[in-house]
Amino acid sequence: MAKVIVQPCGDSEAKSNFVNTIEKKVSKEHVLSFLNEIQKNKLQTFPDAMVPIWGVTSGSNNINKNKWDTIHNGDIVLLYKENIFFQKAEIFQKFISNELATDLWGKKKDGSTWECIYILNNLEKINYKIEDYNSLLGYKEKFKVFGFNVHTKEQSKILLENFNILSEQGILNEVDTEEDNQTFERLVLNSTSSERNTLTYIRKEQATLRKLLINKRENVECYLCGEVFPKNSVSCAHIKPRKACTDDEKCDPYVVMLACRFGCDELYERKIITVTDNGVIQLNKGITITPGIVKATKDLVNKKCFKFESKSIEYFRWHRNN
Ligand SMILES: [Zn+2]
Repeated sequence: MAKVIVQPCGDSEAKSNFVNTIEKKVSKEHVLSFLNEIQKNKLQTFPDAMVPIWGVTSGSNNINKNKWDTIHNGDIVLLYKENIFFQKAEIFQKFISNELATDLWGKKKDGSTWECIYILNNLEKINYKIEDYNSLLGYKEKFKVFGFNVHTKEQSKILLENFNILSEQGILNEVDTEEDNQTFERLVLNSTSSERNTLTYIRKEQATLRKLLINKRENVECYLCGEVFPKNSVSCAHIKPRKACTDDEKCDPYVVMLACRFGCDELYERKIITVTDNGVIQLNKGITITPGIVKATKDLVNKKCFKFESKSIEYFRWHRNN
């Protein structure tokens, strides 16, 4: 079974390396010129003329290299920055090359370079939150990914089995079409209270609620600002946080709303804006109002929610008062 590798690339050096050699990719011809015959033969079979490529330093006492030695072609890499695993890819090939690493990324101040190289295939944008990863692996809530790491078989199995669940899109494809309502009822009626707190269940519940709100439309309005966005740019946001909801409330379609990812979702979740009993959006007076917040909320404050349901009043009230 494939192993799962986590690769942080959030520091400034890594960010620009990411743009240069994963996003823009590197010409296969160029990489080939650094390889020996066996390595060349493998890379020749890469399906594109441009290859996404990454490297890690050996690290002091070979701490990274020893981990890198255990990875195999076909293993899965999760790229990580700012609390999100944002890209998933497969290891296509790996090799050590100080020369290629220096050519692509230069050298660090201490003279080392990212010589433990791997070439990636099947890149896919993802959006896995660190909290979900931590809860799957039983890590502490506040745990952050700091270094390159290769997971054990057991950990990898857990992560791989949950990838489809973590990926909203995966679930949307899985339980598609006519049966959404029935799916939801079955899900809810057949599960015990403790099951409702497992990640698998939560993901399914949220995906189903989202589908109910989106209702097969490609473009949808944000319930707060009213602007129309492609469905992938809106979140199904809890009006009252899920963890504060009773089991019945968790299954209430009025506990969630569509909130755009261009401000509304974040402003509401951070409780920078709240919604009154009459559905009017207000600035939360209890927070520090910076010029940025004033700018970000100027088109929202004192406006009525674009879509406001009286059945959601209690949930908005909870959000305001807690
Ligand atoms: Zn919005």
